[in-house]
Amino acid sequence: MLPLKEEILHGIYDTFAEWSTGLTFACKKNCAVCCTQNVTITAIEGEVIHRLIRENGRELWFAGGLQKKGTTCRPRMTTNDFAGACLQGEDVQPEQYGNMSSCPFLEDGCCRIYEARPFACRCFASEQRCVSGMSALLPEYYLSASTAVMQIIEHLGQGEYWGNMLDVLAALCDLPENRKYATLLSASFVDQSRVQLVKAKPLPGFLLLEDEMGEIAPLLDAIFTRKVGEKTVESILNGR
Ligand code: SF4
Ligand code: SF4
Repeated sequence: MLPLKEEILHGIYDTFAEWSTGLTFACKKNCAVCCTQNVTITAIEGEVIHRLIRENGRELWFAGGLQKKGTTCRPRMTTNDFAGACLQGEDVQPEQYGNMSSCPFLEDGCCRIYEARPFACRCFASEQRCVSGMSALLPEYYLSASTAVMQIIEHLGQGEYWGNMLDVLAALCDLPENRKYATLLSASFVDQSRVQLVKAKPLPGFLLLEDEMGEIAPLLDAIFTRKVGEKTVESILNGR
């Protein structure tokens, strides 16, 4: 049986996938300009990836991938910090936390952790095929919806690691269930990754525009009213 937070996370992934089913994007198999080392995740998303690796006995391959990590920086703000600052009227700019080198889990144009990929990878899409160095093309409401879901996932993981995917994954190698990495990765590598991380924060509110709510409200409603056991996701997120 999955831990409660992972069960909620999978429910959020499924709900977002259902909501975005009717949208048309240029994304195709083997198109992977977007698969860089600039992906951010929460610890829960990292635990889902580690579970997949353990279940498939791929720790050696995974440790090799982690060691291809390029230089990353410590984020100044999480998504919820950023939203909170915007809601307070502060003049803040989005940051880049990783680097634009290829993701080490991309092989032959395919994601090798596809079923466990984090939300940032699930929502990344473009209406026209991406070219290196150029931004993806997406409707504003889709970007707002993706950001709102990232905020909910961060809220779910509040108090735990938040940051660059490779840093979070390396830091989680310290968990008792991941003890195999003690012989595959040096303690200093794990320590250096850990210091690049910050803690996930609670949801301060959403950055949604009134005219986007027609598209986004059904998504948020479906996430919050989703049942996990006897409770709704909203009541669990509110600690009830
Ligand atoms: S987001 Fe861009 S690079 Fe990624 S799959 Fe879609 S079109 Fe290709
Ligand atoms: S985890 Fe998979 S989908 Fe995400 S950036 Fe890496 S290769 Fe791409």
